[in-house]
Amino acid sequence: MSEDYQKIEEYFLKTFGLTLRSVYWGEFHAHTCYSIDAKGMGARCPEAAFKFARKPEREGGPQLDFLALNDHAEMPSRPQPTSETDQDEHLRWVYETYEDAPDPLWQSTLGISRAHNKEDVPREAERFIVFPGWEYTNVKDMRIAGSHVGYGHKTVIFQNLNPTGDDAPLPDVRYAAGTPLEPGDRSKNAPTPAALWRRLEEHRPSRTERIGSALTIIHTPAKGGVKINDHSSDVDIVDVDFVRNIEIYSQHGNSEGPPPGHNKNLNPKDRFNEISTNDPSKTVRALIHDKWCENGDARYRFSFIACTDNHMGLPGYMGKQETMGEGEEASPVDAISDHVMAYHGGKTGIPAKRKVRDALWKNLWRRHTIASSGYKIPVLFAGEIKTTEHQVKPLLMGDCYEGEGVSAVHLRAIAPSHVVHYKNEYESCDSIQKIAVGIRRIDLMIDGELVDSFPGNILDKVIDDLDPGKRHFIYIRVVTDDENRVWTSPIYIGKPERSIR
Ligand SMILES: [Zn+2]
Ligand SMILES: [Zn+2]
Repeated sequence: MSEDYQKIEEYFLKTFGLTLRSVYWGEFHAHTCYSIDAKGMGARCPEAAFKFARKPEREGGPQLDFLALNDHAEMPSRPQPTSETDQDEHLRWVYETYEDAPDPLWQSTLGISRAHNKEDVPREAERFIVFPGWEYTNVKDMRIAGSHVGYGHKTVIFQNLNPTGDDAPLPDVRYAAGTPLEPGDRSKNAPTPAALWRRLEEHRPSRTERIGSALTIIHTPAKGGVKINDHSSDVDIVDVDFVRNIEIYSQHGNSEGPPPGHNKNLNPKDRFNEISTNDPSKTVRALIHDKWCENGDARYRFSFIACTDNHMGLPGYMGKQETMGEGEEASPVDAISDHVMAYHGGKTGIPAKRKVRDALWKNLWRRHTIASSGYKIPVLFAGEIKTTEHQVKPLLMGDCYEGEGVSAVHLRAIAPSHVVHYKNEYESCDSIQKIAVGIRRIDLMIDGELVDSFPGNILDKVIDDLDPGKRHFIYIRVVTDDENRVWTSPIYIGKPERSIR
């Protein structure tokens, strides 16, 4: 451990109370046999999905700290009458047990979530926090979605699994984009995102409680240019009380996209998967540059998260979707044009002083997140701004500074020098490979451009030529020896056109 590293480590501890051990891992986008498309691929049911999520890394599991399952509200699985698969037997049990409920799969998801939620155990390592959730799947011109516009997909997650007292209660049905296949309760559809947010009204932050208790997370825009679905208009409508995070990576690929104004990236170090180049304005970098830097729209100051969108009931699984057959999985930066599920699954890291539900939620809501293309590589990133008035203010990744006259920013980041990973081929326990992956470099990204790269796992740099009259966003990309990536959420600097929460 070098002296420089220790200095930065100390800075994060003193300023934010955080160390690299404060980063917890999980995800907010995994499907089980309760989604009809996942069932068709042989997905495990929620019980097995939770068991997999908690399985130790040395046994080939992801050993997650937190998780939301996100089955499609619009595509509920139904049991086949005569089939004896585990899935069908379980689904028959669900529909019998929750016969009188308007949304049996939702009630069952909540029941199984409660059985697997382990937030009260004293030992932190054994704690596992389940956030209730589903996927709102607004697909263009698809009968079940009931929308000719196609507003995109969002994962819907809630802070509380067991709301008490003043907490907003959990809904009794999942608000779907259109008519669920059957039986479903059509009276509570939400054909547009605005309708969805209206239904979630009780979860909106109040004047006293600055943090809301539901989030709707923008589905990976990487899929935006792909012909089978139209997820892309997802980014057109944003309610900042619910939309604060964006999936920059999932099994659909890397949505970071090209630098603003370019259809292809020009710097050989600045690669991303080209699946997203069909519409550069809908990829993360160009989107934030356009909406925030150029137009001052404060709603587009997103935090970055990553997930799997695994349809096998394998949350947190860093491997290719099992059912996609033979062939290499693509690295986060390789272009694959013929299939949208060729990439391995990502994970979200949330720093928190303690591994407790409310601390994780608060930091997710406040945009303090990092997004990994798979490995659990903790990263801390901060910028200490100096204004022309000689004010100094520390900003943790995801923070915004709305004052004017920022001329300099002192950037600091640390990551481990390498990470030990247990690679698991298709969840068969006998083929676990222990590998050590080194950190190659840290890329510094200012306003969507790769401005510099630093070898190793620390960053300590003063930028003193920021234009104080402009709006900025600054994040880093930690790149491993095998081209995997961890993106930190950006820090946002500058005055919005209109002030919002
Ligand atoms: Zn989706
Ligand atoms: Zn999904």
